[in-house]
Amino acid sequence: MKIVKGDITKFRAEAIVNAANKYLEHGGGVAYAIAKAAAGDVYEYIRISKEEMKKQIGREYIEHGEVVVTPPLKLAQNGVKYVIHTVGPYCGGKWDKEKEDKLKLAILGALKKADELGVRSIAFPAISAGIYGCPLEKVVKVFKDTVEQFLKEAKNVKDVFLVLYSETDYKKALKVLKEVE
Ligand code: ADP
Repeated sequence: MKIVKGDITKFRAEAIVNAANKYLEHGGGVAYAIAKAAAGDVYEYIRISKEEMKKQIGREYIEHGEVVVTPPLKLAQNGVKYVIHTVGPYCGGKWDKEKEDKLKLAILGALKKADELGVRSIAFPAISAGIYGCPLEKVVKVFKDTVEQFLKEAKNVKDVFLVLYSETDYKKALKVLKEVE
């Protein structure tokens, strides 16, 4: 697992993960950025996402651990084959075991789907660490533990990246890794 600084919409990986909300509305944050970069028109990508959600889940929302896959459209130019939407917990600055479990499910759901699809490289944003207000340090720690455990049994996935958007978050994430190593 590698931590990198950058914009996930510019990142080259076979799959990129979206920190979505349960209705796949892509109204802000990284979801908006991915929808815009993929389709140009955010509403068009919301429409595609909802249509795929009906087909793949049979419902109009996803639970933690459930994921929806959409085509990369323009992101194909970065080598992206799939966009995998997952929903993390809402924290609002708080953190407890329940939020940790939900985050783990969200990360694992995306990893398992990628493996199933034959993906070798996958990039994640810091799920729930933005608008959903979970402490970045906790998110990074859960991410690291979940990925390491998953990679022991993965068939196809080899490279997992956590893409941090801001310099501050990137530095905080590196610090977490150093502390737990
Ligand atoms: P959530 O609602 O799950 O918290 P957000 O989109 O608000 O999702 O934020 C998740 C993380 O993604 C935040 O750390 C935010 O800084 C980051 N982020 C926002 N835009 C991008 C981007 N283009 N590439 C990578 N990360 C991004």
